[in-house]
Amino acid sequence: MQKEKFLYIVATPIGNLGDMTFRAVETLKNVDVILCEDTRETLKLLKHFGFEKHLVSVHQHSSDEKVQALLSQYDNVAYASDAGTPGISDPGNKVVEAAVKIGFRVIPIPGACAVVAALSASGLPTDKFLFLGFLPHKGRTAVFEKIKNADTTVCFYESTHRILKTLEQLKAVVAPERKMVVCRELTKMFEDIVRGSINEVAEKVQLENRGEFVVIVGEKQTRAK
Ligand code: SAM
Repeated sequence: MQKEKFLYIVATPIGNLGDMTFRAVETLKNVDVILCEDTRETLKLLKHFGFEKHLVSVHQHSSDEKVQALLSQYDNVAYASDAGTPGISDPGNKVVEAAVKIGFRVIPIPGACAVVAALSASGLPTDKFLFLGFLPHKGRTAVFEKIKNADTTVCFYESTHRILKTLEQLKAVVAPERKMVVCRELTKMFEDIVRGSINEVAEKVQLENRGEFVVIVGEKQTRAK
């Protein structure tokens, strides 16, 4: 009988290293190799927890064949992205897809995830939500129209470079009094959670717009005040 092979999908902190789980550390210590999005980021993490491991980078442009060939060399592999839960808007899903094709058993090691952390602190309904990942560069008006008509909470990721433009576009398309929460630098020293109407939040975020963001918009009936 063929020996079972394992791929561990390991969540890592989104800023605060105290959010690394015991199980994540133990798993990374015990595998044969760690595949990661960026070896420099994962190396910092391993240094903090005081151990070394062979690291190999797998990124968005790595071919399926390359990932399969890499995985085939080992019996126990972990994958860690730069931050958070692999596969949520990062190359983690690519590694899982390749691993499943060649018969690996995939085991999630859960932990921090920016969108889940943001939703949990938002105060907006989370029994149902629509997660849009990063908004596309093209065809954004159609996406804002979708948010305008959404009957669930909507959330997405945004970068420093585009946050102000995105908030301006949201204001232009979606009712400016609609409820909104913007979470910046979650779990880090300058964590900031701004709540209010789209108008109010856009104004406040303009004053401090550096860092990483999760944007959450209430469903179409919500109004701030
Ligand atoms: N897989 C990751 C996760 O589970 O959260 C997300 C990876 S995605 C490439 C990175 C984006 O997540 C950032 O551009 C930002 O929008 C969001 N993000 C990551 N860390 C964050 C933080 N500490 N605070 C707010 N947003 C964060």
